[in-house]
Amino acid sequence: MSSEAALRADIVEVGRRMYARGYTASNDGNISVRLGSDRLLMTPKSVCKGFMTPDMMCITDLTGRKLEGDRDPSSEMQMHLEVYRQRPDVQAVVHAHPPTATGFAVAGIPLDRAVLAEVLTTLGSIPIAEYATPSTRELPEAVRKYIKAHDGMLLANHGALTVGSDLFAAYYKMETIEHFAKISLVARLLGRENLLSREEVMRLQDLRGSYGIKAPAPICAETQEDATCQAVQAPAGDGARLVPDIVRRRAEAGGDGEIRLTYRELSALIEEAIRSLR
Ligand SMILES: [Zn+2]
Repeated sequence: MSSEAALRADIVEVGRRMYARGYTASNDGNISVRLGSDRLLMTPKSVCKGFMTPDMMCITDLTGRKLEGDRDPSSEMQMHLEVYRQRPDVQAVVHAHPPTATGFAVAGIPLDRAVLAEVLTTLGSIPIAEYATPSTRELPEAVRKYIKAHDGMLLANHGALTVGSDLFAAYYKMETIEHFAKISLVARLLGRENLLSREEVMRLQDLRGSYGIKAPAPICAETQEDATCQAVQAPAGDGARLVPDIVRRRAEAGGDGEIRLTYRELSALIEEAIRSLR
């Protein structure tokens, strides 16, 4: 267990990195960590996360009552408290507004396509928690649905939330989400995305065990209403590990690269595309 002084210094460092990388602007974002079994160390309200000092932090109990600190705890404290209530294994929580990932959250597009092996082994999929007014009771309720099975999620029209076994583990997941969002955006701008096949995804799932990666839930192929697993979009590969996305598959099936579709086929294609973006 790290000492309180070391944890205060780690929060300062994580805040500095988040601000330096543009994950937060002005006073956005918040960071917390467990301090023993019954207390939390947390960033205060209304400070820029790039310029904090160790003495600024607040100590609260697990109900959010302030025990120590000159400043009031983060305005998103309720969201952090909800995570610690739902996930006894989680030691730290990071919230920020990284612009590319937040762009996906604004567009309503979850980062749940099977594209990168590292993302699948660590986070599985990154769903979007329903929109909630920041700093109200709605936000912890929106987060509750996904937090049991996910270590990272987007918050609709707001930002992203990550959790981990220590402060840096939670922070690095924020980096992974933003990096994945940038790569996904570039691939979509280029007009195609090759996906990992379902079989390859299941192989990666097995690798979690051998790499000692602790995930809160297994990866699954179908979205569950109660979000008890990490739903990933991965098409059947029939032996192939990479599967071209649907538009390219159709083009290749045409032989000459030209796409000729009937009205009915086009409608089906659009419907499928819309479904896959949800
Ligand atoms: Zn926020």
